[in-house]
Amino acid sequence: MEDTTHIDPGHLVNFVPVSSQLHWDEYFMLQAMLASYKSKDPNTKVGCVFVDENNHQITMGYNGAVAGVDETKIPWGNDRTVPLEYQKYGYVIHSEANAISHARGSLKGSRGYITLFPCNECAKLIASQRVSEIVYLSDKYRDTPENRISKKIFQLSGVKYRQLTLTPKLIEGLHQYLLGLLKHV
Ligand SMILES: [Zn+2]
Repeated sequence: MEDTTHIDPGHLVNFVPVSSQLHWDEYFMLQAMLASYKSKDPNTKVGCVFVDENNHQITMGYNGAVAGVDETKIPWGNDRTVPLEYQKYGYVIHSEANAISHARGSLKGSRGYITLFPCNECAKLIASQRVSEIVYLSDKYRDTPENRISKKIFQLSGVKYRQLTLTPKLIEGLHQYLLGLLKHV
């Protein structure tokens, strides 16, 4: 049993035990998910956030058109049988590339939370920025050549990566919380 004889007897006045609803991993993945929600891509919405070792956000992004380009003026279709100029792939910047290009500080040693495991082009950028770790939600393109290249780049450059699982219970709790906020406006 804890020895409490030396503790100020007033230390429990107005004392309420507290704990955060969210772990840092959950908190930042939810931010990445919110960023993805902003994407106009009708098929694949991806979001990410990069944070430093003190859990401060450095930058975030989602997949979208080049800054300054009217997103309604580019083709969003993913039909790869038509020429590239008529495919979204010719115009869209991935969330990680957007976040990195708009970062105001160094990403060296940062952690990146991404809703989808990065493609090989983004893996190049991430490794070049000396990001220390990638935390991802989905790896739906696993076993594709691009995905294998990403993992090889990370392994060769020392970027750690791990998958995070979020439970429906967490999302449900957040959902109820957000609805509760609206009741008091
Ligand atoms: Zn990418």
